[in-house]
Amino acid sequence: MNQRVIPLADERQLARRPAIPSDRPAPDGRLADRRGRQVRDLRISVTDRCNFRCVYCMPKSVFDQDYAFLPRNALLSFEEITRIARLFTAHGVRKIRLTGGEPLLRRNLEDLIAQLAALPDMEVTLTTNGVLLPRKARALKAAGLARVTVSLDALDDAIFRAMNDVDVPVADVLAGIAAADAAGLGPIKINMVVKRGLNDSEILPMARHFRGSGHILRFIEFMDVGSSNGWRMDDVVPSAEVIRRIGAEFPLEATDPNYTGEVAERWRYVDGGGEIGVISSVTQAFCSTCTRARLSTEGRLYTCLFAQSGHDLRPLLREGCSDEELSAAIGAIWQDRNDRYSELRTAATADLRKIEMSYIGG
Ligand code: SAM
Repeated sequence: MNQRVIPLADERQLARRPAIPSDRPAPDGRLADRRGRQVRDLRISVTDRCNFRCVYCMPKSVFDQDYAFLPRNALLSFEEITRIARLFTAHGVRKIRLTGGEPLLRRNLEDLIAQLAALPDMEVTLTTNGVLLPRKARALKAAGLARVTVSLDALDDAIFRAMNDVDVPVADVLAGIAAADAAGLGPIKINMVVKRGLNDSEILPMARHFRGSGHILRFIEFMDVGSSNGWRMDDVVPSAEVIRRIGAEFPLEATDPNYTGEVAERWRYVDGGGEIGVISSVTQAFCSTCTRARLSTEGRLYTCLFAQSGHDLRPLLREGCSDEELSAAIGAIWQDRNDRYSELRTAATADLRKIEMSYIGG
């Protein structure tokens, strides 16, 4: 008998069609929400598919051959994505991060990057698992990509293969990092999600490996995104513990953020071996300085990574709304934003049905 559990609700369906306000002031680049937070960053998910099945993100038990990934015609086209991004620019966005799923699986991604990089004052970056970088890094750079962030959760092959669950060796990701470096896509950030008992033994080996490399290793607390990763507070290794463990071998000192609202807290090796970062979404929520909006692959706008529902921009795009109408709708969504999930998180909120990370974009 087929034992597969079909969720009663698919969170992807929970999206409202935004209202178009009758009052449509011209954007002044300073759009702010109900907590005074301006919009500065747009994360765009370009695919909900991935070539990894990381156990904490897209577990095979849920994302198997029967999983209903988005059909092709549901995806926003590059022109639709660029149109939304351009309207966001007028509201104050200066940085775009392409993500997914695995963004390098989206065909001709360079074409999208070229369109986005041509927007005024825009920095375009990308988060990837790195395995396709040897093939793609040069074309991405030529298209106008500024930098990449590469996810790597362990240096030990057995641990890494167990985490990505598709048997990809560490060497493939290291080759991707080297290709990105050679193509000029640095400084490269390396993201390591730390889950207690799974890969926390890799904190020090990762720190030793990337010290002095010029790449910036960042440790991310395991988060309760989505509803399929079985998150428990006990699995979180607090950033303070990461810093303590590394600092015992290589003394560290805190350093100033590069800009207000920077997600990672920066630490520098006292002996000049470079810097690391910690992203403490669970133990030190940074909602009060969050300037990020997220656009899903099919055009739903989310104002929080932990959202339960989004705002469906696609019908507005496909039913002939003017730029002025679309821009006003986006403005109204952001102005109405009041979320601060990570500040309110409890064991009970972790059980809420939230949108999956692979869909909303990491
Ligand atoms: N496929 C790309 C990659 O591997 O970087 C981009 C998408 S992935 C969802 C983006 C980032 O989210 C990765 O660094 C991943 O490790 C992180 N991530 C996924 N689930 C997470 C969780 N539950 N807690 C913390 N980080 C998570």
